Amino acid sequence: MKITRIAAYRVELPLHEGSYKWSGGKSVDVFDSTIVRVETDEGVVGHGEVCPLGPFYLPAYAAGVRAGIAELAPHLIGQDATELGKLNQLMDAAMKGHPYVKSGIDIACWDILGQVAGVPVCTLLGGRWGDDFVLYRAISQQSPDEMAKNVTAYREEGYRRFQLKVGGDPNVDIARIHAVAEVLQPGDKLIADANTGWLMHEAARVVRGVKDVDVYIEQPCVSYEECLSIRERTDHPFVMDEVIDGMDSLLKLHSDRAADVVNIKISKFGGLTKARQARDLCVSLGIAMTIEDSWGGDITTAAIAHLAHSTPTEFLFTSTDFNSYVTVSNAAGAPQRINGRMAASQEPGLGVQPRFEILGEPLVDVS
Ligand code: MG
Repeated sequence: MKITRIAAYRVELPLHEGSYKWSGGKSVDVFDSTIVRVETDEGVVGHGEVCPLGPFYLPAYAAGVRAGIAELAPHLIGQDATELGKLNQLMDAAMKGHPYVKSGIDIACWDILGQVAGVPVCTLLGGRWGDDFVLYRAISQQSPDEMAKNVTAYREEGYRRFQLKVGGDPNVDIARIHAVAEVLQPGDKLIADANTGWLMHEAARVVRGVKDVDVYIEQPCVSYEECLSIRERTDHPFVMDEVIDGMDSLLKLHSDRAADVVNIKISKFGGLTKARQARDLCVSLGIAMTIEDSWGGDITTAAIAHLAHSTPTEFLFTSTDFNSYVTVSNAAGAPQRINGRMAASQEPGLGVQPRFEILGEPLVDVS
């Protein structure tokens, strides 16, 4: 089943809350997302999505997704869309690095493989664990009172896991964590995600300041070594996210006992093929995971759902429903949150149909 055409579309995703704010004063009002379409000579078509969290979060930016696909696509025309391992080798041979460029193409080819096999992608990724899986809600950075109010509101919508955006002034962050902890109920889980925002002395003060709070500490500082230093002086459960970008980082983390949970972001690994490798390694090593991506709409959420739903339940710390944060739906058939939980589609492939009426003309079109 040969690839005959690769196209990329741009879609804007505004936020219900107006903006999303995290450490260091970073914020996004409207996400710039890329929808990737892969066509084949047998008429089977697949789709993927890549949406960086602005250009200042990871080494990825929205226009770079499209520029990279224009560079990469000519190497893939004529290749078999269902041979995911070979396709990934070919993409890596044609372009060094830039995993986020490759992610949408890889996801689209999994969509094709699922349709050809007549099964949902989650079946191909290992099988469906339970009826549904658990989600977290990211709580945009605001004052302690406002964040506590938002947690209460999202709790009423069914969420039980809350990821607070901290990584600001340590005194305010300590107040944020305490304010939110007060509105939680038994069984809820609280994660304080600094998104690399603290220096070591600041992180050290925060973990001491919330010593008696049941809270996970996520990615306090920029580098792995700085995070490890904080890990070694706190007994809070510990999560690493931004520094986890491949198998090497996971093996080092395991060897150093550097975290209890890691976040697997699909586009940071280069797509479902490599994110699944990382997921399976973590299962073998006993490391729990948050399965997610940098950001995205319906198609990203569908891809996340298939990987999350095929992850053994005890290893899935949380996952995410990005499509509920944004005001635009870029595809029909995407999974929808019910009571803080979500399920992957039962349809063959990803189970989504892009809404081309809002996508317009492709910005990249290679055949
Ligand atoms: Mg994080």
